[in-house]
Amino acid sequence: MPERTPERIARIREVLSRRQPDLTVLLENVHKPHNLSAILRTCDAVGVLRAHAVNPTGGVPTFNETSGGSHKWVDLEVHPDIRSAIAHLKGQGFQVLAAHLSEGAVDYREADYTRPTAVLLGAEKWGVSEEAAALSDLHIKIPMMGMVQSLNVSVAAAVILFEAQRQRLRAGMYERPRLDPEAYQRLLEDWLKR
Ligand code: SAM
Repeated sequence: MPERTPERIARIREVLSRRQPDLTVLLENVHKPHNLSAILRTCDAVGVLRAHAVNPTGGVPTFNETSGGSHKWVDLEVHPDIRSAIAHLKGQGFQVLAAHLSEGAVDYREADYTRPTAVLLGAEKWGVSEEAAALSDLHIKIPMMGMVQSLNVSVAAAVILFEAQRQRLRAGMYERPRLDPEAYQRLLEDWLKR
């Protein structure tokens, strides 16, 4: 078990007090370990507490060194299919914003990320499925001005999540703990063992 030094306890407390339990990503069949790892690393940086995924193989997603160890600090909940994943998130009051280059998509900066928000990202090759697109509350897009139609999924995730961070910083959402005291304490004990 790692040592409980005052510095480590203080660091973990500091990070937990900035975690945003109402901001998350939902990864639909994003399967390349380096993409998953890079997305989790961004999640850690903006304060996502728990990420969600539907895995094409049905198994537990794999990470590599690209994560920088962040998969240790961002829990990943794996759902059996996209319909139940979206139902689960909506049941918890999340709006689901599909990063999806559809006709009706709005500029990602127009969305309100201070609301409980799940950003849905699609598979490397096929993008967001029709089913997931139909079940989402809004489609958002990062405007593309070049020859290539889309960004790498981990880059798209970073662009959108840092907009969410920008809006939440402005709204003071990182200034005090967003976790309820019980959850904060439980996570503190858990993280100290990691
Ligand atoms: N051919 C796929 C398609 O038509 O959607 C491209 C998939 S893209 C490589 C993987 C994922 O990254 C997309 O499903 C989307 O979630 C996200 N993405 C990439 N570029 C984006 C953009 N400009 N705006 C919004 N999301 C984007």
